[in-house]
Amino acid sequence: MNINWRSRLATQLATVVAGCALAGWPFGHVGLAVALGLAVYLAVTLRHLLRLHAWLLSEAPGAPPEAEGLWGEVLDRLYRRQRHEQRQREELLAVIGRAQASTEALRDAIILVDRHGNLEWWNRAAETLLGLRQPQDLGQPITNLVRHPRFSDYFLGGDYGEPLELASPLNDDEYLHILVTRFGEGDRLLLVRDVTRLHQLEQMRKDFVANVSHELRTPLTVITGYLETLLDNADHATPRWRRALGQMQQQAGRMQHTIDDLLLLARLEATDYPADNRPVVLEPLLASILQDGRALSGAVGHRLSLECEPGLALLGSETELRSCFSNLVFNAVKYSPEGGEVRVRAWQDAEGAHVAVQDNGPGIDARHLPRLTERFYRLDASRASSTGGTGLGLAIVKHVLIRHRGGLDIHSVPGEGSCFTCDFQPEQIAQRTAASA
Ligand code: ADP
Repeated sequence: MNINWRSRLATQLATVVAGCALAGWPFGHVGLAVALGLAVYLAVTLRHLLRLHAWLLSEAPGAPPEAEGLWGEVLDRLYRRQRHEQRQREELLAVIGRAQASTEALRDAIILVDRHGNLEWWNRAAETLLGLRQPQDLGQPITNLVRHPRFSDYFLGGDYGEPLELASPLNDDEYLHILVTRFGEGDRLLLVRDVTRLHQLEQMRKDFVANVSHELRTPLTVITGYLETLLDNADHATPRWRRALGQMQQQAGRMQHTIDDLLLLARLEATDYPADNRPVVLEPLLASILQDGRALSGAVGHRLSLECEPGLALLGSETELRSCFSNLVFNAVKYSPEGGEVRVRAWQDAEGAHVAVQDNGPGIDARHLPRLTERFYRLDASRASSTGGTGLGLAIVKHVLIRHRGGLDIHSVPGEGSCFTCDFQPEQIAQRTAASA
């Protein structure tokens, strides 16, 4: 019911004043009677106010004090609002309780980190997986507690596109998969999962490939050796047999290349960073690779050119870097037509060092680019077999770059050519060239 309290109060007040005036009139004390009446009215109002105040202050407020009229309505409405808010709070607490109980039950660790990189909250699994302790570690920088150079690089680097996989800080035999998501204003959520089992399976796969490759190597060396001897003494053999022997030798050579590449990949995957992290000066390395590229080009006659900032050197393994750059240069030669141009450039800038191998060959359709570094991925199997490729070249390039804190950028336009650029982080530069010093 919607009562007009303003007019009701006015009427009430007018009634008090008129009643008191009437009562005081016969005695000739109208003013005194009205003042007395208003004082009583004020006293009643103040009493209600004090009761309301006491009720609001009470620790566990129950039903509000009884009152009539406007005071009754005010108290009633306040009580109803309070009950509503209490119900909402209870519902919210129940939801939070359930969320907390479910995160506690999770086997994956969830960690909240504030914008300064300090720990804010974590579930129980974080204590088992990362050894965080409640409450000592609260507010501590996460990089002080998860002490691993790769974790610090990843967490502080801020590029969370790919998850990080690393050995557990508590147990070297356990492997963790870490995913960081940004939220709020610079806050971060870490999801850590135990992937030991998956890691073991992956390790078994790698070991299997490495073992099979290794086991095939010796018999293949024997076969190629005998084929060579047979071919050397094939003067009396019929042309048919000579052709067959030639093809056998060619295919055995391909198999040997594939096995060598598989073994190299297995070696690259076995450790995180190259053991021999020494300065490798790029100019002589690239010049000698170009020399090999010219030899591969042979009579076809590609034009190979090199532009390299003098003295530019990278930290890393010379053997691995040679294998990375020569795969790119040899691909450029293999896949560009006769007389094609191959340009190799090496330079550095604020973002780090770069080595680009550009050709004016057939180019690659954009749909192939994301899968190009997968093992055995080829655009055209027939073309690949004619070029003698193993399908592992770009996978090797990718792994060498990962181990040298670098990445591969492929830019290609069908019909115009391709440019494969290896980008290395500034920390990987061993020597600043005179130009940038
Ligand atoms: P392969 O041993 O077959 O050359 P790679 O991993 O080196 O294997 O290359 C994968 C595929 O990418 C090749 O089969 C080829 O189709 C394509 N490719 C690589 N480099 C080039 C290039 N410079 N121009 C055109 N296609 C290329």
